[in-house]
Amino acid sequence: MYDTLKERFLKYVKFETRSDESSETIPSTPSQIEFAKLLKKEMEEIGLENVYVNDACFVNGTLPSNIDKKVPVIGFIAHMDTADFNAVDVNPQIIENYDGKDIILNKDLGITMYTEEFPNLENYVSKTVITTDGTTLLGADDKAGIVEIMEAMKYLINHPEIKHGTVKVAFGPDEEIGRGADNFNVEEFGADFAYTMDGGPVGELEYESFNAAQAVYKIKGKSVHPGTAKDKMKNASLIAVELASMFPSAEVPEKTEGYEGFYFLEGINSNCEDAELMYILRDHDKNKFLEKKKFAEDVAKKINERYGKDTVKVVLKDQYYNMGEIIKDHMYVVDIAREAMENLNIEPIIKPIRGGTDGSKISFMGLPTPNIFAGGENFHGKYEFIALESMEKATDTIIEIIKLNVEKNYEKTEL
Ligand SMILES: [Zn+2]
Repeated sequence: MYDTLKERFLKYVKFETRSDESSETIPSTPSQIEFAKLLKKEMEEIGLENVYVNDACFVNGTLPSNIDKKVPVIGFIAHMDTADFNAVDVNPQIIENYDGKDIILNKDLGITMYTEEFPNLENYVSKTVITTDGTTLLGADDKAGIVEIMEAMKYLINHPEIKHGTVKVAFGPDEEIGRGADNFNVEEFGADFAYTMDGGPVGELEYESFNAAQAVYKIKGKSVHPGTAKDKMKNASLIAVELASMFPSAEVPEKTEGYEGFYFLEGINSNCEDAELMYILRDHDKNKFLEKKKFAEDVAKKINERYGKDTVKVVLKDQYYNMGEIIKDHMYVVDIAREAMENLNIEPIIKPIRGGTDGSKISFMGLPTPNIFAGGENFHGKYEFIALESMEKATDTIIEIIKLNVEKNYEKTEL
């Protein structure tokens, strides 16, 4: 049905588009600009209109409506960059009619994907599975999302008998470093609601994310020769350890799941004179999130009471918010996606994301944007894989949402 899907995917994953947190440019890496240019060309080739790359490196395109009634404009968004893992010379392996056994990714290097370690493989028996060669990630996150949107648009253009409203498409940079969406322009995009096609196995539909903040503590100690340090030394390293021990030991990533939030100590750098602790704070619940931020500040206060004011300074920075707070007032957006999946015999898997998506930021800019599966598994590393059939299902889902949007709004206007 989507005759160019596989080739397109294999072509895109070979295009290296890793983002770089340490870069200060937009986008963070020049390879993303090159990829944006390629996408622009291919979007024009399939027949999308008003295709351009904007200053923030978002490739935009429009599928114009082919009906005379006004229905809501739907947007589909995916990201061009790949995660912080080797992405040079991606060499995809295609396993047709997968037999459900261990997959040897690289014979020479002895890298195998064991079913024991990756039980999710059993869901892909008899499917066409695409893996890495064990030396890179695959980049299905999120090239799969891009391919699915492209193929859906191409299909609709080649099948004008399918009635649809206006559809907007955007492919953006730097999602993996949490920055791309900061420069997303909702007004320019011009959709009434949108979906990110990103991550996860078939059926995933997500509209709740974490609220997220970062806390960085800087501790000032006093370094003195240890032989003559009595009553003089202030050991920043020991104060750092004491500070870390004040956090609730059960509220950490390794002991929480579902809607449970956490404090995550990402790292400590320290010596006697200076110490720095990097934390991230996460909670789906807004009040609990605010409490966590307050707690993070109180910890610093207590340390300063013990060791003198200005011993520690904490800087808190909000990163993104739970998009559920916005989307709950626009549940049509979730319902239509759920119904589309059900029509296609896909069981919707609706659960809170223990992280954020581009949609977490974009929803707060005024465009409700839940996330729909792109089909991949084991992201951000060499065990990443995706089945061709999963990409086809995601493409089907996009088309079905677009169809339902017309049907529902025709119904509405007829009432
Ligand atoms: Zn992604």
